[in-house]
Amino acid sequence: MNRHLPVALFVLAVLVAPALLPDFTVTLANYIGMYAIVALGLVLITGVGGLTSFGQAAFVGLGAYTTAYLSTVHGFSPWLNLLIGLALTTVVAGLIGAITLRMGGHFLPLATMAWGISLYYLFGNLEMLGGNTGISGIPVLNLFGWELKSERDYYYLIWAALLLAMLAVRNLLNSRAGRAICTLKGGIVMAESFGVNTPRTKIAIFLIAALLAAISGWLYAHLQRFVNPTPFSLTQGIEFLFIAVVGGIGHVWGAVAGALIVTVLKQVLQDWLPKLFGQSGNFEIIFFGIALVLILQRARNGLWSLVPMLAQRLMPNRAKPRALAPAAPLPRRTLPAAGTVLLQVQDVSKYFGGLAANQKMSLEVKAGEIMALIGPNGAGKSTLFNCISGVSPASSGEIKFLGERIESFTSRQISRRGMSRTFQHVRLLGQMSVLENVAIGAHLRGRRGVLAAALRLNRQEEAALLAEAARQIERVGLTEHLFDPVGSLALGKQRIVEIARALASDPCLLLLDEPAAGLRHLEKQALAELLRKLLDEGMGILLVEHDMDFVMGLADRVVVMEFGEKLAEGLPQDIQQDPKVLEAYLGGLD
Ligand code: ADP
Ligand code: MG
Repeated sequence: MNRHLPVALFVLAVLVAPALLPDFTVTLANYIGMYAIVALGLVLITGVGGLTSFGQAAFVGLGAYTTAYLSTVHGFSPWLNLLIGLALTTVVAGLIGAITLRMGGHFLPLATMAWGISLYYLFGNLEMLGGNTGISGIPVLNLFGWELKSERDYYYLIWAALLLAMLAVRNLLNSRAGRAICTLKGGIVMAESFGVNTPRTKIAIFLIAALLAAISGWLYAHLQRFVNPTPFSLTQGIEFLFIAVVGGIGHVWGAVAGALIVTVLKQVLQDWLPKLFGQSGNFEIIFFGIALVLILQRARNGLWSLVPMLAQRLMPNRAKPRALAPAAPLPRRTLPAAGTVLLQVQDVSKYFGGLAANQKMSLEVKAGEIMALIGPNGAGKSTLFNCISGVSPASSGEIKFLGERIESFTSRQISRRGMSRTFQHVRLLGQMSVLENVAIGAHLRGRRGVLAAALRLNRQEEAALLAEAARQIERVGLTEHLFDPVGSLALGKQRIVEIARALASDPCLLLLDEPAAGLRHLEKQALAELLRKLLDEGMGILLVEHDMDFVMGLADRVVVMEFGEKLAEGLPQDIQQDPKVLEAYLGGLD
């Protein structure tokens, strides 16, 4: 089946619906469309980005009140008001975002409630906005001379806006910027070490969600021709989140599904529940509460997540992964000549409270050599990696990379200079494909941002980044898994994906933390071969590894650590015979 057929059918249904439906249903459809636009923003920030917001209704209000006030009091054109509303939302959301997005855990959702309530009361208390009575007499929209007078007229505008917004968000998610957004939920440390500016990415999606909400508010104001504070309250903010969660908070389509289900259900319940209970009251809220608990238990990822599962069951041969577009290779950095000192670690210490995880550690890595760092578990090897790569800065000491002092740099700054690493405890985004995970490694080799992605102006660069990722995946021998979710791979293979991701950044120094753990004999041989090839190309490698045969057959020099300190350093054959090392490390293993 053609992959685009369901979308085409959906668009067709949207087009012909008003001709077939009664007025009342068209009104419902308008609300569904407007709610879905807001929920789409929540899909982006909460579903994909992991930032829970209860405050989106306030941004809807901002868009609605801006145009209500400017068009009634100053007689401005609604279209100009849309632009002003978006600008105002950018400023307000930018400020709120800058203050609150740094908060982690449950503080952020609480903060979103706080601003949701504040803006709501602001609307109600400002005299010029009509207080609790609101503003009436808002003009209808005029589109190239066409007056949008009826619900049916608005229907097309609202659904066109929704479809365009869905397309833009989908484009965004399938891009360099979109992959950066996907790292926000559980991958920040990793993303930063591949150069992703995660605070800026958070602000970007927060702004997009706020702008979508403001557009929805603008449509609402001109459709209703009247605004008051009630529809922009915290209750509505919670309902928007409910819509997104019910529909499927990780999917663009979840926003539409959620808005449809919740709006229709609410209507039905409002009609029926009073008849059942014999009096009016907000019974539907109780019903929604119960429904939410059930959905969270039975279909955590929302109802939309059942659709691909069903589709897979009904049509197992559907939707073959698409082939990659051809692309010119990305430019590469010139590697320093063999023998150039890449990394100098001098007297680095790292304390965790009273624990000295590293004490006065020193080592050097040159271009074209493998330096192995060995030592018993807990010796401090991974800690040293974190100091070098800027993930967790050293307490004292000096680290130079390519002659530049980097000990106070962030991991983002260091990655830019050509150092790349893997993590002992793999840090991959399990739901995403191997290809997408590896493409995150190439983040700094692209430039196109959110806007270019939404408008699909990034095709060339995107193709080049994916082609580069595919090339590195081929190099490490995982091409057969290109489109598989990385979480479905065995742990040993996931480590290899980490290497491909590190290589995708085109580094001159590679830090590998136990890359061979969990690999079978043949896979280890293939890995050793790959590392030798990288050396021949002129890369430098710092390697932490437990498998002695693997290390000794591969390393040019070895540093042995114990209790955070350097115990010995030398050629592999000397280290193997060093009595201190034999006792502390090799003996200790048995
Ligand atoms: P290795 O990689 O050589 O096995 P690590 O560097 O992971 O050793 O750990 C060295 C020591 O530092 C261990 O005792 C470990 O418990 C401690 N350690 C590592 N990271 C932290 C941390 N974030 N907070 C507190 N202690 C830590
Ligand atoms: Mg370790």
